[in-house]
Amino acid sequence: MPLALKARPLPLRHPEDVEHLAGAARGELRIPHCRLCDSTFWPAGPVCPLDRSRDLDWVTDPGTGTVTSWVRFHKPYYADDTVPYVVVQVRLASGPRLTTSWAGGEIPVCGERVEVRFRALGDGATVAEFGPC
Ligand SMILES: [Zn+2]
Repeated sequence: MPLALKARPLPLRHPEDVEHLAGAARGELRIPHCRLCDSTFWPAGPVCPLDRSRDLDWVTDPGTGTVTSWVRFHKPYYADDTVPYVVVQVRLASGPRLTTSWAGGEIPVCGERVEVRFRALGDGATVAEFGPC
């Protein structure tokens, strides 16, 4: 007997993600920035992945980049998943890579230029996703 699928949970609000999620709710792509080496990085964390500095702040990224990889899921993991759906890896023009939902209607192409969009999920949660420019 197949198990019933649960509803997709809203994004968890870990302390490291609060600024990113709050920015998404305002329509801004907020990512961490290291003041020591002047790099931006993702995922967010308590230290810079390049030099382990804790001297961090947040910047608003323009939210443009290119598709570096993608995958199409054919299996629903949550009750409200519409399959197939596409998840992409995007390299931001500023450097970091994000794994995120695809907001384009067509299949992505590696190297394709993309830009951020924001999708409200309910309960005040908004997520960043990417689609063609
Ligand atoms: Zn650094």
